[in-house]
Amino acid sequence: MIAPPWSAGVPATISAAAAKGIGWQVIVVGAGPAGAATAWRLAARGVRTLLVDRHAFPRAKVCGCCLSQLAMRELGALAPDALPASAIPLASVLLAHGRRHAAVPLPAGRVISRDVLDPHLVGRAIAAGCHWLPGIHVASVADAGTAGTVLTATASGQSLMLRSEFIVVATGLADHVRVVEHDPRGSDQRVIAAASRIGAGGILPPESCDLPAATLVMAVSRSGYCGLVRLEDGRIDMAAALDRGAVARAGDVAAAVAALLAEAVDAGSCRLPDADAVRAAPLHATPPLTRRAALVAGRDRRIFRVGDAAHYVEPFTGEGIGWALAAARVLAAALIAPRGLRAPGDAAARYVAGHGREFAAAHARCQLIATQLRRPTIVAGAVAAARTMPWAARLLTPAVLGSASPGATA
Ligand SMILES: Cc1cc2nc3c(=O)[nH]c(=O)nc-3n(C[C@H](O)[C@H](O)[C@H](O)COP(=O)(O)OP(=O)(O)OC[C@H]3O[C@@H](n4cnc5c(N)ncnc54)[C@H](O)[C@@H]3O)c2cc1C
Repeated sequence: MIAPPWSAGVPATISAAAAKGIGWQVIVVGAGPAGAATAWRLAARGVRTLLVDRHAFPRAKVCGCCLSQLAMRELGALAPDALPASAIPLASVLLAHGRRHAAVPLPAGRVISRDVLDPHLVGRAIAAGCHWLPGIHVASVADAGTAGTVLTATASGQSLMLRSEFIVVATGLADHVRVVEHDPRGSDQRVIAAASRIGAGGILPPESCDLPAATLVMAVSRSGYCGLVRLEDGRIDMAAALDRGAVARAGDVAAAVAALLAEAVDAGSCRLPDADAVRAAPLHATPPLTRRAALVAGRDRRIFRVGDAAHYVEPFTGEGIGWALAAARVLAAALIAPRGLRAPGDAAARYVAGHGREFAAAHARCQLIATQLRRPTIVAGAVAAARTMPWAARLLTPAVLGSASPGATA
């Protein structure tokens, strides 16, 4: 067993009792990339910001741990040290489908475990002046109009109420935070696609498969796909998107992942993890992946959603972290006025417009690819084409995996 890559968590900078006594300008709920980057940007502009999460960090997160060009650009825009120094290069993706495999180049990608990335971003947000309070499980938020917003949570089994001018919900796919007050726009509505896949993943020991560094192996089958990559500390990150029917037929998530990997008979020189290795790993599953919710909620439009809590499609194009960071940038720009914070309606209108401009094309491209991936003949044809015409694979890379800007490829 190798030592975990972090030496300590990120300690709270304030107690729950002290946080209750402060009139916050913004409380950000959820400290993944979307929440941490939003809190970082707000705090850096002098906004009195509290970042809370139900977990202490680091915490488990189902993720392929690959940083796209977009994620790299967004991290670079945050600060020169926003990318943890331990991130390692990612040069190519090896697509394995049945008896075929093909390599596709990945320009400028990086690999970093979420054990390292997420606490690093929280630490940078703290350094920018934000307060951090882990162990806060938020149940509901309410927009009390000119009186601001009220957040209800539990902390160490005790109920807790916090007040702020705005609330940012960045709770990822597991967004169960309830917006309580009457909302004539019905803007709390969440829509989950009927055919949505679920995510599943975990971290395997270094010796569980032969995987070269700098290569993402993506095994694709009729029932979903599974990415495997060697992390900066040698462990193997495994992250899959699975049809819910395939999980039900296999019996459980581990059996479904093992069956999917077994279908990838030819993964080049890579030996993929066998069923025992998959079973031995502590696996986590996600709620359905393909979803969207209102970007803004509340009577006076003081409650904002960002990152996966607002919109997610599927992980195949590897842009979730980049999207989360880019959405944090758009939201912070909408909230911050030259002096202080904007009025709620103004901030809401700017966020909705900016989000649409930034993501509509990228989300549509990802949705199209997710649909095509469900057709085995198309997947087989794409792998065969990439194998026989490497130049075509190179041209396809930005269309499939996105460019540095979310709105730039469609
Ligand atoms: C299988 C799979 C593979 C993926 N691979 C990649 C990849 O390789 N590259 C990539 O860029 N993206 C990938 N993604 C997507 C990426 O993981 C997400 O898009 C990204 O983490 C979204 O960030 P976020 O901040 O919105 O949410 P999250 O990272 O999920 O963070 C949400 C936070 O909110 C907290 N929270 C939730 N509920 C509450 C509550 N009620 N109270 C308080 N706190 C709460 C959680 O504890 C968590 O810390 C993958 C996703 C999946 C499912």
